[in-house]
Amino acid sequence: MKRIAFARIAQETNALSPVATTLHDFEGSHYLEGEDLLRAADRGPEVEGFFKRAELAGFATAARARKAEIEPVPILSAWASSGGPLSKECFEALEERVVEGLRKAGPIDGMYFCLHGAMGAAGIADPESRLLRSVRAVIGNVPLVVSHDLHGNLTRARVEAADAIVAYQTNPHRDHARIGEKAGRIAIGTVLGELRPTMAWRTLPMILGGGKTIDFLAPMRAVFKRMRRAEKKSEALAASTFMVHPWNDDPALGWSTVAITDGDHAAAERLADELAEMCWERRHLQPPEFPSAEEAISEARAAGVRRRLGCVTMADASDVVTAGAPGDSTHLLRALLEHGSGLLTYAAVRDPSAIATLWPQQVGDHVALSIGGTLDPARSRPLPVAGKIAGRFERHGFGKTIVLAVEHMRIVITDGPSMVMRPSFYTDVGLSLWKADIVVVKNFFPFLMFFLPYNRKTIFVRTHGTTDFDAAFQLRFDGPMHPRDTVDDWRARDHQRRGLASASSAGTFAQV
Ligand SMILES: [Zn+2]
Repeated sequence: MKRIAFARIAQETNALSPVATTLHDFEGSHYLEGEDLLRAADRGPEVEGFFKRAELAGFATAARARKAEIEPVPILSAWASSGGPLSKECFEALEERVVEGLRKAGPIDGMYFCLHGAMGAAGIADPESRLLRSVRAVIGNVPLVVSHDLHGNLTRARVEAADAIVAYQTNPHRDHARIGEKAGRIAIGTVLGELRPTMAWRTLPMILGGGKTIDFLAPMRAVFKRMRRAEKKSEALAASTFMVHPWNDDPALGWSTVAITDGDHAAAERLADELAEMCWERRHLQPPEFPSAEEAISEARAAGVRRRLGCVTMADASDVVTAGAPGDSTHLLRALLEHGSGLLTYAAVRDPSAIATLWPQQVGDHVALSIGGTLDPARSRPLPVAGKIAGRFERHGFGKTIVLAVEHMRIVITDGPSMVMRPSFYTDVGLSLWKADIVVVKNFFPFLMFFLPYNRKTIFVRTHGTTDFDAAFQLRFDGPMHPRDTVDDWRARDHQRRGLASASSAGTFAQV
């Protein structure tokens, strides 16, 4: 029997958010160890309230297929909502626990480590590569296979620390389990001596491009098709394209591509290069421009029939909680209150201090207070409202929740992350989506799938916040960065970042 350890530490960081991610955020969302983790991976739900089956269930499937030869060894699984950087204490506690778990597990023959790929931690550069080095120090020179979200950022340190790195091949993401299974098969094959994975990669000085970056739509469809074809025809064990989380603060941020073959390094180099060229060709296709809140509200008002048949879904693109924003922005709320009269609107805001004020009250009580604008006071100001408490709930993942009826609005105030991505965020507190005219979400892509039955029109709204695309331009980079700067050629930076050329010719480059 060969023993393969498996673990997850996953969070996506928005470096611009002032709201630190703490151990409490992980333990309150998803945290499992040992037998509990093995059971969750085997039978589900893997991440309660969010995923029935995700990467670790996929890994468990791969291990079951070889159960006479492979024993999966559960270490820990910790997941928190996207948010600000992990506090140093939080990062070090998780690191310590995974290292300790591996020590206690005894000798192992390989490991699968599920990481988001865009995690940040206060005062620690590239924290995920540090995790890889820390586990490597315990497991020694056995196969270490890593999976990332395709919004992860690949670095030289990670490529050097891992034997194989694979990423989702769908955006919006719907292949978590498939990727875990793929990583599992590579780990198992390598441990059993059937595979000899060799990995090649390229990195581009580019943080935005590829239009809407949806895997089944142009212009990225061809790139995803190429990767799947390479895997199907056994040209590669795995092919990945990382489109990064642009609000990560690694100076060497940028899209990258990875190809893993079974022993044929030249073929891996060729495929990684081909994919990088395909991405670079698509760099000028930028994400669409979004209307202002006032424009969006009049568009919604004009969509009369569509509102009657379902609802208009408004994505608060400047405060996308699932991309790490604080979720306390009041810009869209204020505009909806001022300009949306007569339109029944559901909206959300995270405000722990408002919850502290409202929690002792009863349903039906009339209240007047300010909401929002407290977690990130530099980007939006508190909004004074008067209304009636229409609901009071304690919910997994969101924490204490108050529904406040204010004129034509139903505002769902949460103590925890206001992660509005699924209809259940509203329906679980008694708000029927069939009755609403406008429903606000704080998500970029997955809501499009989840809201399909109700949604008759989607409007992305730009106000001002940590998930504005150009907000990423204030971060520090290791040189000119597309599309903020003009970049003529990607190869010189790729060579420096991969350690093939001296960095001295690059100098440093920053714009604040
Ligand atoms: Zn992602």
